[in-house]
Amino acid sequence: MADWDYVIVGGGSAGCVLANRLTEDPSVKVLLLEAGPADKSMWIDIPAGFTKLLNHKTFNWNFEMEAEEGMANRRIPCPRGRTLGGSSSINGMLYVRGQPLDYDTWGQLGNRGWSYSQILPYFKKSENFERGGDDSRGTGGPLNVADMCDTHELCDAFIDAAAASGYPKNKDYNNGNQEGFGYYQVTMKNGKRQSTARAFLDPVRNRPNLRIETDALVSNIILEGKRAVGVAYSVLGQKREARVNREVIVSCGSVQSPGVLEHSGIGQPELLRRHGIEVKHELKGVGENYGDHFAPRMNWRVKLPITLNEQTRGLKLVREIYKYYATGRGALALTAGVVFGFVRTRPGLDAPDMQFHMAHASYDAAQKRLLEKEPGMTVVIGQCRPDSRGSIHIKSATPGVEPAIRPNFLSAQIDRDATVAGMQIARKIVSHPSLEKYIAFENKPGKDVNSYDEWLDYARQNGQTTYHVVGTCKMGSDPMAVVDDRLRVHGIAGLRVIDASIMPTVPSGNTNAPTIMVAEKGADMIKEDAKAGLKAAA
Ligand SMILES: Cc1cc2nc3c(=O)[nH]c(=O)nc-3n(C[C@H](O)[C@H](O)[C@H](O)COP(=O)(O)OP(=O)(O)OC[C@H]3O[C@@H](n4cnc5c(N)ncnc54)[C@H](O)[C@@H]3O)c2cc1C
Repeated sequence: MADWDYVIVGGGSAGCVLANRLTEDPSVKVLLLEAGPADKSMWIDIPAGFTKLLNHKTFNWNFEMEAEEGMANRRIPCPRGRTLGGSSSINGMLYVRGQPLDYDTWGQLGNRGWSYSQILPYFKKSENFERGGDDSRGTGGPLNVADMCDTHELCDAFIDAAAASGYPKNKDYNNGNQEGFGYYQVTMKNGKRQSTARAFLDPVRNRPNLRIETDALVSNIILEGKRAVGVAYSVLGQKREARVNREVIVSCGSVQSPGVLEHSGIGQPELLRRHGIEVKHELKGVGENYGDHFAPRMNWRVKLPITLNEQTRGLKLVREIYKYYATGRGALALTAGVVFGFVRTRPGLDAPDMQFHMAHASYDAAQKRLLEKEPGMTVVIGQCRPDSRGSIHIKSATPGVEPAIRPNFLSAQIDRDATVAGMQIARKIVSHPSLEKYIAFENKPGKDVNSYDEWLDYARQNGQTTYHVVGTCKMGSDPMAVVDDRLRVHGIAGLRVIDASIMPTVPSGNTNAPTIMVAEKGADMIKEDAKAGLKAAA
């Protein structure tokens, strides 16, 4: 008998959910291995710490994408969480489920059990929506979902300007109808971040059947023939092994799960041989099908000193700190995106294809996130369901080394068209006369950018990821699929991938809530399969 029934590799958004759900059965022993350290830091708990975490040396892997011509040969930063909670410990805390269409597409691709009506119960199960539950919203789940703590006059005016421009207001964009504008819902509780470590792991840390090891980098899965029997890992340079009676579950996220498979000899034979790795199992799709939300940012100078740029400096910052600790509200409890917008960029579309994030703040460099001194506001433009696909593969046979992240952004014509149309709509809304009182001028890209080519060039020179990497171990039954619709790796027994990498297409919005849903459903499938196995054996 091995020491563990299940080993979960990666304690991120998905890994923490799995650790909680699998240890609900006291007879099951689970080991959770996380490469990063414990998640003890005020920057993680305080929402405004997001900007510190974007390039934090300890809690962030700080990857960079490969330079590509379509992105003006820039190396775009690709932050990823490196601690318990994973990217949910460093993310923007925006709670967005996506559209029913996203999951109906997964179902339509042949993935049984993944259409909207079938996954909705898992969104509901995971959440505690502070406003209360109904047909589509849940209460009593581990993950607290709150409304944005404060409104702001510039944000209100932006939502009004959108409505006056023909884009409706929407009070709950997570109830199956995304369309419109309003304030984001956030994964926070009492003004503090709700990572999956806080929501799912902290309440069950004392279960005797759960062991959590941090600073534990998994190098590879141990295979006996075509069966996974354990993992090899190292803790602060010391080599260890953990063996399983049942399954190894890879939850290292879309950037690193392909690498764990490749280091184990599972993937594209030529690529593995190039790195001197013995080919144990050919799976062409490992590391392919990378999808993400590419997003240019526009910003405006604001006439009045009412934006976060000036409100978080000097004495005003002292006031905000006091307010935060006294009430859990104010500038420190805000996320990077405050207002959402979901719009259709052209007539004839069934559903919105564009997401806006608006905030009453502006930054001098998108990734360093240093607030500008002059009053400003930002709108981030992100196509909901891009067609462009890239890849992520290992660059070295050494585990833990940055992989080659090739996003291939804007390679599809439809993505270029939607991105340009999205920026034009943002300009149209902010040009509405009702905003005249606030807006001094468009700073970026500025009034000289007008033609299709000029807009596109601006996007290529300035666009970033909104950090929603998915799809690199996609679910399906075609030759490029890595896992089946029960998230079992094709051709290998005792091995699943459960994280954002299994998503066959990019959901229409931020990806934390969909990843948590995937993990909730994955945990149920593991339990069902174990039960069926026991019955078959009896
Ligand atoms: C900066 C940023 C902002 C974001 N903002 C939002 C937002 O506002 N709203 C939203 O919905 N989504 C947001 N996202 C996206 C969302 O957080 C991710 O989609 C989600 O967290 C992915 O979960 P995951 O479980 O797939 O991977 P992760 O949460 O990244 O977890 C993977 C874990 O595996 C660990 N790991 C990796 N390799 C190994 C190894 N070899 N051995 C052991 N452990 C390993 C990592 O350290 C990490 O903890 C953001 C992401 C980032 C990075």
